[in-house]
Amino acid sequence: MSVIEELTEIFRRFPGVGPRQAERFVYYLLRQRKDYLHKMASLIPELENKTKICDLCQKFYISETDQTGVCKICSSKNRDQELLMIIARDADLHSVEKSGTFNGNYFILGGTVPVLDKEPAKRIRLGKLKKVVEKRRESGLKEIIIALSANPEGENTADILKKELQNMASNEIKITLLGRGLSTGTELEYSDSETIKNALLNRF
Ligand SMILES: [Zn+2]
Repeated sequence: MSVIEELTEIFRRFPGVGPRQAERFVYYLLRQRKDYLHKMASLIPELENKTKICDLCQKFYISETDQTGVCKICSSKNRDQELLMIIARDADLHSVEKSGTFNGNYFILGGTVPVLDKEPAKRIRLGKLKKVVEKRRESGLKEIIIALSANPEGENTADILKKELQNMASNEIKITLLGRGLSTGTELEYSDSETIKNALLNRF
């Protein structure tokens, strides 16, 4: 395999990128200056060396000077410890943070579970979630908000979470879902601030 083919293969695996587009990326790189290519190549190992996954919310964060294993949001004393929002991906967290409508903590599932999938624990961080809920219960957790996209996969995942968390939540922790401020088929990641705010206000 030539270097062009090999790099094309790598780009092909990026989300939403087809073979033609992957090839276009490679030819784009071929036309760039050397210092651009070197900069890009040197940033990739830094992704591995300078980031960590937060022990609590599971988000990627810049960890250069950090020894705690916990991101800024999770270590902040100003966040509402009574609220925990469960979301699918890092990008969802950024959308909700940007909307400025939520001041609790997060847990990133790492994906959603397709309808009829038999092994949800392989798709989402179920075990880790239970441990985090247990830990947060000790610091006053009162409500878990399931905030997944309004599509069959999101709803299926919400059902699984409700079942899994119900036993541990008991009476002291309420489990709620985002309201239908999110219209059907909407991805949380692409929702505007107003929509997220309404969905949060109308949670049930
Ligand atoms: Zn965190």
